[in-house]
Amino acid sequence: MSQEYEGASGWNFFLEDEPLRRWLSARKAPHDAVQRLADFGELCGGRLDALIAEAQRDENLPALERYDRWGNRVDFIRYCPPQLEVRRLVLSSGVLPPVPFWERMVKAYLVNQCGEGGAACALAMTDGLASLIERHGSPEQKKRWLPVLQDPGGPTPLTGGQFVTEKQGGSVVSDNEARAIRAPDGTWRLTGLKWFCSNPGELWVTTAKPEGSSSVALFLVPRRLKDGSLNACHILRLKDICGTRGKATAEVEYRGAEAEMIGRASHGLAILMRTVIRTSRVHVAAGSLGALRRALVEARLYAQSRTVLGRPAAELPGVAKSLAKIEAAWRGGQLAFFEMIRAIEEDDPAAEVLIPLLKVGMSRAASDAVREAQMVFAGNGILRDFSILPRLSQDAVVQEIWEGTHAVLSGHVEKALRRGDSRKAFSALLDGAPLPDDLDGEEFCLAAFEALCRSLLRRAAPARAA
Ligand SMILES: Cc1cc2nc3c(=O)[nH]c(=O)nc-3n(C[C@H](O)[C@H](O)[C@H](O)COP(=O)(O)OP(=O)(O)OC[C@H]3O[C@@H](n4cnc5c(N)ncnc54)[C@H](O)[C@@H]3O)c2cc1C
Repeated sequence: MSQEYEGASGWNFFLEDEPLRRWLSARKAPHDAVQRLADFGELCGGRLDALIAEAQRDENLPALERYDRWGNRVDFIRYCPPQLEVRRLVLSSGVLPPVPFWERMVKAYLVNQCGEGGAACALAMTDGLASLIERHGSPEQKKRWLPVLQDPGGPTPLTGGQFVTEKQGGSVVSDNEARAIRAPDGTWRLTGLKWFCSNPGELWVTTAKPEGSSSVALFLVPRRLKDGSLNACHILRLKDICGTRGKATAEVEYRGAEAEMIGRASHGLAILMRTVIRTSRVHVAAGSLGALRRALVEARLYAQSRTVLGRPAAELPGVAKSLAKIEAAWRGGQLAFFEMIRAIEEDDPAAEVLIPLLKVGMSRAASDAVREAQMVFAGNGILRDFSILPRLSQDAVVQEIWEGTHAVLSGHVEKALRRGDSRKAFSALLDGAPLPDDLDGEEFCLAAFEALCRSLLRRAAPARAA
């Protein structure tokens, strides 16, 4: 092995991914879109991978600037130049609507092979916010806010956020305590504390209960008001997080913050779940698949180049078994990901099962695969300056938690399966294999995810052999 282990740095993540290219060719993806993906794959494996590694060094992590030199509050997150460049490059690569959903998801999968990197969460949230405004925004909101989200030259590219979780708990959004009061001029003012606020950029969507109502409504909150002054949103502190460290996660307090309601007040929770959170959960699946893929590639490269007992480590039975296990998880997971994209595009009721199921199954599979890859690297697997794996492992556990824990999402899978059309459509993907009826909760989900992957692998076997 050479002195410097380079791993997959410098690869074209798209061109090296043969099943992905085969899928695109089967669905007759337009040539120009495939070319865009090839360019993006090169960007991810090359420039972005290097910039992200630089941005993730302890001394380059985001910092909170509370005041300017004159002592005025600015509540600004300062990102290092490599992080800003990453965000600018990603946003300039066609990652938001109206770029087709499948293309955006493939790009999310590719960029996550660099780890969360301070860009992937920001991308998911900006995508969710753009989708929300496109579907539910007024003409004025679309005109004013979509250009802000799409501007790669703004102060913080990929600038969208979603602040829902509060101190008393994130899983039960209807327990939110933040309040919204209508001011005499017709604008809304928010008060309350949001406890996990990732990527506090120029605009975010948030939840609060309008005065006199027990329902949660949705609001857009800009960091700055029309006259350029700061909105009454104070960043109390940055969280000391162990994963996804490239993007800041903060505690934010609203002290009469000006906000615009989006969608009907009584539909806030439903709109939140169907647009914003749904988009984020699909991104979690894409991101986890990206981590899985990177874990496989790194483990393979390492095992081929590391000599143990006079031969490549890859030839040792235990290592070969580990590699095969990660490869099977990636191949099955990738087919499940393609199936989820298809179901969403076609409005297939199976999507209602697949989205929460992949949120649970794929994020867990990614954590397991990264850990397995670290075992292949052995001691070098935990060295932060040796490979991307330690960073991936910490990002992977966050993917398991945010946007809903396994326990919460398992409930969503079970609920979707109680709907006849969703159950039937999902069961059809299992090719007659029965759903495990002796398990519930997370165990049920993991077993159902494995059954799905196995069935999709069986179906794909003739094509792969050809
Ligand atoms: C790095 C990071 C960044 C984040 N960024 C954001 C962000 O930008 N915006 C945002 O709004 N949130 C964000 N979150 C918060 C995240 O979405 C919540 O942590 C998550 O939704 C769970 O909420 P909680 O942590 O309050 O757990 P709780 O809701 O307190 O859950 C505690 C336990 O109870 C279980 N539980 C809860 N409800 C149920 C149920 N119905 N059935 C069964 N079991 C249940 C959970 O599984 C868990 O084990 C972030 C989290 C992390 C780690």
